[in-house]
Amino acid sequence: MELPNLLEKLRMDHLEAQLDAVCEQAAQRQLDYKSFLSQALQAEWQGRFQRGIDARLRQARFPWLKTLEQFEFDFQPSLDRRQVRELAGMSFVERGHNVVVLGPPGVGKTHLAIALGIKAVEAGYSALFLTLEALMTRLVKAANENRLERSLQQLTYPKVLIIDEIGYLPLSNLEASLFFRLVVRRYERASLIVTSNKSFLDWGDVFNDPVLATAILDRLLHYSTTLNIKGESYRLKEKRRAGLLGRQTTPEQEVTSEP
Ligand code: ADP
Ligand code: MG
Repeated sequence: MELPNLLEKLRMDHLEAQLDAVCEQAAQRQLDYKSFLSQALQAEWQGRFQRGIDARLRQARFPWLKTLEQFEFDFQPSLDRRQVRELAGMSFVERGHNVVVLGPPGVGKTHLAIALGIKAVEAGYSALFLTLEALMTRLVKAANENRLERSLQQLTYPKVLIIDEIGYLPLSNLEASLFFRLVVRRYERASLIVTSNKSFLDWGDVFNDPVLATAILDRLLHYSTTLNIKGESYRLKEKRRAGLLGRQTTPEQEVTSEP
C-alpha cells in the first residue's frame, strides 16, 4: 500500500497534511528512525489534540472568548490571584468542586468564568456556558414537554457547567425548584461555576424561597471556592478613560452590554 493510502486508512489526516514538512525536517536534522517516528506521530497527536480543543470550545457555547492571561489582576486587588491560579490548575474540576464568583456589574465575573471554562477545555474537559435565563428557559420548556428528566441528564454531562448572572432576575417557584434539582444532580459529580451580583444573604429573594435558597447554597458551597470581587467596574474604567463619564459614578449608571 502507498503511504498516502496507508495514512488515509489509519485516519492520520494531520500527519498526511504535514508529511513533506515532517520528512524534510527529519532529513535536515538527520534524525534516527525512532526519533523520526516519534516526530511523525507527534504531528498527528498535536493535530488531534487541537481538534479536540476546538470541538469542545464550540460545544461550550461561550458568548465570547477571554482568557485568564487577558485578565488584569492589578485592576482588581480584592481578587486573590493565587487562588485563581490554583483554580486554573483544574484540580477543582477533577474533584467535581464548584466555583462561585460574586461581585457588582462589570468587575469581570463572566470573564473569569469563561477563562476558567477555556482552561478546562484545554485540559480536556467538556464545558457548557448558559446564562441563568437561558438555563431556565431550557428547563421550563423541558418540564412542559414532559422531558425534564432527559434535560437534567444532559446538563450533568459537561464536566464544567457555567451558570452566569444569578440574581439579575428573580425566579418563579417552579424555576427555583428546577434549579435545585439541577444542583442536586451535579453535586459531587461535576463542577458548577456560577456568577452572581447578589451576596448569598440575598439569594432567598432571588430564589423566591429562603428555605430552597439555603438548600441550594448548602450543596453549592459544600465543596467550593468563592471569589468575592469588591472592586470597580472595568467597563466604567474604560469609559472613564475614554472621557465618556465624569468622576463620580454608581453601578446603576453601568451599561451592561457585552463586548
Ligand atoms: P461582569 O460579568 O462582572 O459584569 P465582565 O466579565 O462581563 O463583568 O467584564 C466586563 C468587560 O470588562 C469584559 O469585556 C471583560 O473582559 C472586561 N474586564 C473586566 N475585568 C477585567 C480585568 N480585570 N482585566 C481585563 N478585562 C476585564
Ligand atoms: Mg457578567
